[in-house]
Amino acid sequence: MIVIIGNGISGVTAARNIRKKSDDAITIISSESKYFFSRTALMYVYMGHMTFEHTQPYEPHFWEKNRIELLQNHVESIESNKKELRFSDGSKMKYDSLIIATGSKPNKFGWKGQDSKRVHGMYSKQDLENIEKSTKGIASAVIVGGGLIGIELAEMLLTRNIEVHFLVRDNGFWSEVLPSQDSQLIMDHLEKHHGLRMYYETELDEVVTNENDEAIGVITKAGRKIECQFVGLTAGVSPNIAVIEGSSIESNRGILVDRFLRTSEADIYAIGDCAEFREPLPGRRPIEQVWYTGKFMGEVVSETITGSPRQYNPGHWFNSAKFFEIEYQTYGDVRAILAEDEEEFVYRHATEDVLLHFVFEKESHKFIGINNFGIRMRHPVFNDWLLNNATIEEVLSNLKSANFDPEFYTKYESEVVAEFNQKFGASVAVNAPKWWQKIISH
Ligand SMILES: Cc1cc2nc3c(=O)[nH]c(=O)nc-3n(C[C@H](O)[C@H](O)[C@H](O)COP(=O)(O)OP(=O)(O)OC[C@H]3O[C@@H](n4cnc5c(N)ncnc54)[C@H](O)[C@@H]3O)c2cc1C
Repeated sequence: MIVIIGNGISGVTAARNIRKKSDDAITIISSESKYFFSRTALMYVYMGHMTFEHTQPYEPHFWEKNRIELLQNHVESIESNKKELRFSDGSKMKYDSLIIATGSKPNKFGWKGQDSKRVHGMYSKQDLENIEKSTKGIASAVIVGGGLIGIELAEMLLTRNIEVHFLVRDNGFWSEVLPSQDSQLIMDHLEKHHGLRMYYETELDEVVTNENDEAIGVITKAGRKIECQFVGLTAGVSPNIAVIEGSSIESNRGILVDRFLRTSEADIYAIGDCAEFREPLPGRRPIEQVWYTGKFMGEVVSETITGSPRQYNPGHWFNSAKFFEIEYQTYGDVRAILAEDEEEFVYRHATEDVLLHFVFEKESHKFIGINNFGIRMRHPVFNDWLLNNATIEEVLSNLKSANFDPEFYTKYESEVVAEFNQKFGASVAVNAPKWWQKIISH
């Protein structure tokens, strides 16, 4: 009997892939919802673009057909010596192998009023339902924390004509991740949004509440009062590991795993947002909290559990997101602050929200990574450049092949390359011989 705690992308991917290779009984447990849904699509439910049912990738009969039991219940604790789970309703369940895929939870930093009414994170189905109730008919909201989820919440609230006061701790938007030029592009873009009021270098001190314990405003650490009827807490997320409390499973911020996603206890694995690698992979973080890494960990653990042990080795980092209208992708390693042996080349269009941020090695000119905004680039092409140690010159001269929208480069390509040539005294030509195409066609 294989039991999986968590029906997010990690747990569900593990279950689907185990079923392809094994006839073992599989049960997925979640306290959040019976059926798997796309967490990344929650915002579109609020904005009226889809119903909650539309976020569920599989019809209910899929689970029956694949003999995957679904149980909506909350696991209170794990007794690994008895191979048993204990639920909050007092019931118990045995397992042979256990996969913990319990995801993340929104950060709260002990602010006064953080658990009051009309104060919510934006993570779960229940958060969405609470946000829906709390923001009905209100005029203004405060969002605390300027990352990707904060910007989604801002976009959601603006569609209901709610004035949004957005508190960002640092002096730039998402500046612990984005280099300053990239952060500036987003900040300039946010300025254009009517109804969005940005407060940089501003931290929450407390949530002010009325006699019914409902949020009616916030006070910042600098003593500024902002009135509102809703507070969104989006200051990052942390691994949700409450389920292992009191067990002998080792943890740090997340549940500690090796490259095979094995925890410190026999037959117990951890995957997705809740897992932390004892030894992070080169160029990657110990905790990876994005959709595709959870999916990949689910695939990898399914092989180990079905008898073909496999190590997690996802290759070069990539990610994508949207800041209102601006699409963002990152491939390879672009840090907020350049390392000493790194060089950068940043192209920003004079009037449009388009920016390409290339990073390469100072000495060898080996390409290290790119952040691209306002234009979509092809993942396989960049992956091949990174795998094949392409130089920045090779990348730039062949950039056309990485582009999703060929019109973009008929418009800007020569400008990007000319700027690079001028800045670095180089003579890169556009459309040089396409040596990489042989690789990607295989
Ligand atoms: C609003 C939002 C937008 C996002 N957008 C993007 C994006 O655009 N791109 C991207 O790559 N990533 C995005 N992410 C991150 C991405 O959604 C997560 O990395 C991913 O969903 C994590 O999957 P998971 O399977 O590890 O955990 P989760 O999806 O969190 O699933 C874990 C499940 O386990 C359940 N659970 C936890 N403890 C217990 C227990 N004790 N008993 C029973 N059940 C339990 C939880 O209730 C939950 O249902 C976004 C996240 C949010 C919140």
